[in-house]
Amino acid sequence: MIFTECTEILLLFYFKTSIKISRVQLTFRALRVKCTGKKICFPEAYCPGGDKMTTENDTERPSLKSILKQPGNDICADCGAPDPQWGSCTLGVLLCHGCSGIHMTIMEISKIKPLVDSKWADSEVQFLAAHGNKVAKLKYETAVPIYYHRPKYLDAQILKEQWIKAKYERQEFMDPMKRQTYQEELREGYLMKRGRDNGQYLSRRFVLTEKEGTLKYYTKEDNKVPKVAIKVDVINATFQPEKIGHSNGLQISFLKDNRTRNLFLFHEDGRVMVDWFNAIRAVQFRWLKLAFPAAPDQELTTRMMRMYVKEGFMEKTGPRQTEVFKKRWFTLDNRRLMYFKDPLDAFAKGELFLGQKDLGYSASPGLPEGRECGEWSHGITVTTPERSYVFTCESEGDQQDWLRHFNKVINSVMSPQDFASKQPSLPAPQNKTHMYICRQCPLPHPPSFCSGILAQTQMKR
Ligand SMILES: [Zn+2]
Repeated sequence: MIFTECTEILLLFYFKTSIKISRVQLTFRALRVKCTGKKICFPEAYCPGGDKMTTENDTERPSLKSILKQPGNDICADCGAPDPQWGSCTLGVLLCHGCSGIHMTIMEISKIKPLVDSKWADSEVQFLAAHGNKVAKLKYETAVPIYYHRPKYLDAQILKEQWIKAKYERQEFMDPMKRQTYQEELREGYLMKRGRDNGQYLSRRFVLTEKEGTLKYYTKEDNKVPKVAIKVDVINATFQPEKIGHSNGLQISFLKDNRTRNLFLFHEDGRVMVDWFNAIRAVQFRWLKLAFPAAPDQELTTRMMRMYVKEGFMEKTGPRQTEVFKKRWFTLDNRRLMYFKDPLDAFAKGELFLGQKDLGYSASPGLPEGRECGEWSHGITVTTPERSYVFTCESEGDQQDWLRHFNKVINSVMSPQDFASKQPSLPAPQNKTHMYICRQCPLPHPPSFCSGILAQTQMKR
């Protein structure tokens, strides 16, 4: 038999004796390269039992089942995914399949095994029972800063990798007095940034300043004036490995002249990129704390950067709805639906605000009567108090998914921040809006930028 990829074979032999039926398992993984016939066996920590025969102890399985029923053990210790299938017999945590793969990269501190079809020594089961996810959380997460992003199972792989390494390998969250680089008041370094016009990634110097509450970047080493200065409290940052084409790719979005501006960045070192991400979150949190001193910390974190609700291609037509449909990249960010000619465009071509249902917003399948669709036939009509917008999707599944997200947003009640962040509808205004000197912010900006936190004064030109 020739294997061309990693193959797991479980052979079960049942031996019936006059006393009882016992099951003997032979578990092994083998990797054979077809052209050479070379065989590689994974170490025991990857594949418990290796390729040797193990006999199941009848008392082990009930113990592991009871451990899974302990509070906190029903989800992955690192990403919260339900139904963990792996355990670390050195850290005492239960893990999902995805996070178990990351633990394989820190084998010297985390020896993992599948919970089923694997031999667990009594001492290992007892260790897991005595620890578990709740105890490990108290030990390894006792000093996680409130702004630090704890990844969920749908988050980018780089976030989960660095979270697991920060927790167990670097032990960043065990000592509250230990200061990390993302907690410094001034952070400076080089990141690869995609050129706005030519699409080339070039090294750029970035400076994050807590005192100013800004993230700046410079095109030349000796530049005194930054190319762009972004107020940290309006930044949204999300890891976008597929879109950027790099596993550590980070998209930073902010409003510039009332239009959404995107920066696409990466750094070859995943830790550096995730530390930048959390450093921006740290400064953003402190500025929100200044702006809303009475708000609980947990509430402030809900106002911080967030994942996009949905992204993907749809076709759109113009305001008269007689123009030809054009394929565009759409991003739904909270209540803002932006569209771009290309997913990596620096500026959104237009934006649409989705308010709540009783204020005249709706989304429904189909096109207005008599309206011909373009290349794609699955239509969506979004209605606002000002006008209707017509989009088409490539498939019915895509249409239903967009509609589900639109209606979820429209059926929810707008927060005061939603009212304050309401942007002009598509298309984006071509004329520059009035700039204001804000009593809170260091930079002039349009009135919608800081959610009406403090009174603003129009700038005299
Ligand atoms: Zn997990």
